[in-house]
Amino acid sequence: VALGRCLAVALVGLEGHLVEVEADIADGLPAFALVGLPDTSLFESRDRVRAALSNAGCTLPSRRITVNLSPAALPKTGSGFDLAVATALLVACDRADPASVRGHVHVGELGLDGSVRPVRGALPAVLAAVRAGRPRVVVAAQNAAEAALVPGAEVVAVTSLGDVIALHTGGPVPVHDGGWSAPGVPHAGPPPGMGPDLRDVVGQTRARSALEVAAAGGHHLLMVGPPGAGKTMLAARLPGLLPDLDDAAALEVTAIHSVAGRLDPSTGLIRRPPFEDPHHTCTVVALVGGGSGLPRPGAASRAHRGVLFLDEAAEFEARALDALRQPLEHGLLVIHRALGSARYPARFQLVMAANPCPCGRSSGKGVDCTCSPAARRRYLARLSGPLLDRMDLQVEVRAVSRADLASHCAPESSRQVAERVATARAAQAERLTSTPWVCNGEVAGAWLRSALRLSPRVTRTADRRLDRGDLTVRGYDRVLRVAWTLADLAGRDSPGPADVDQALELRQQGRVAA
Ligand SMILES: [Zn+2]
Repeated sequence: VALGRCLAVALVGLEGHLVEVEADIADGLPAFALVGLPDTSLFESRDRVRAALSNAGCTLPSRRITVNLSPAALPKTGSGFDLAVATALLVACDRADPASVRGHVHVGELGLDGSVRPVRGALPAVLAAVRAGRPRVVVAAQNAAEAALVPGAEVVAVTSLGDVIALHTGGPVPVHDGGWSAPGVPHAGPPPGMGPDLRDVVGQTRARSALEVAAAGGHHLLMVGPPGAGKTMLAARLPGLLPDLDDAAALEVTAIHSVAGRLDPSTGLIRRPPFEDPHHTCTVVALVGGGSGLPRPGAASRAHRGVLFLDEAAEFEARALDALRQPLEHGLLVIHRALGSARYPARFQLVMAANPCPCGRSSGKGVDCTCSPAARRRYLARLSGPLLDRMDLQVEVRAVSRADLASHCAPESSRQVAERVATARAAQAERLTSTPWVCNGEVAGAWLRSALRLSPRVTRTADRRLDRGDLTVRGYDRVLRVAWTLADLAGRDSPGPADVDQALELRQQGRVAA
């Protein structure tokens, strides 16, 4: 009996686990069995491995081959195990040094010709290896730049099984400079003060200030207004107002984009908040993730620690909007599979833009609107109560007037606004130190009403609305969160009655049209 072992990584959502691949070649009828909870996509691995080994000059004997992946309880999916299965077989066939193989973790797909191909999720896989105390990782050359983003990783880049045999028999391994697997998909926001600038937005004083409050406290924002009023322009400028991601968030966001297969590692870790703007015709899967093999994170996960922007929000399928309730509540998305479920973080700032009615012209004086009163009422109701209730800021964006255009007063730049946002965020960070939250938008309601309790004198207007039933408890909490952000922006230690009143107003402007 000949036995070979090699380490690989199984990804369950973003979490990687070390897996031992054990290859056993024994007497018996020719067969190739794969055991240890592999999914259907992994069974195809057998044909690729056999052909690739043969093309690398190692033809498998006509005997009984068993490959076991352990721990067996861990679900295994995708093509990333090919390289480890082939390497374990190389050891079993006495074509690689077991000690050298044992010192490395192997992650990669094989081509039938023996080439080693890149896989999605190389970054979280390498991260798991490093955290398990196995920093030496063999990956495809196209994954090398991405793998090298993991602090402490010692990456060996290979292009073929021939390179792997050389590596594990003391031969020279050619140096590959890599490249990347998915070039040119820049989905991270621009650096502060770069990219689309608020300087380009004329007028819109109220919407601009709502955007600033949203940025400062991490609040969800709904903008209602006619087409062409500048809702999309404003939303696109939000990421430019947000602070950089810290190290942990940067690694997490980069890992999500790695699993999504759209990371450009040439620019390093993603350090700016991402901006995702799925089209209203997108499927539920495109929004929340899914697909065969290793599930792809959807737009909501790719927007983690950044902005998810739904333009024409009332045109999205009701199922798609409903699917956002889980991440809005829990900050993550669970994708259920036959062999277990995958979790992807999805803590995003939701920005929705909507027309006030099907024709879009009912705001302001609304003289040109051709919709029936019933159609107008039904339109925004599509955004469903529970989702609307979660929007901290709801503002009306009016069409730009002639007076706005004629004004000589130059609009503030994104850089100026971003500075105030940074100051307000610093105040929150100090207040929220030793809590799990970083900004007002995340603070739990219970904590808000106990540790941050405000006097009845301050909350009087909101209390009255709550008593009258005009405000839900969730809505009440959202008003308090926004009031704290207004105080932080103004440099006050805690909100006053005027902050609470303004927070109430910022929550209700957008309802005018509904
Ligand atoms: Zn209309």
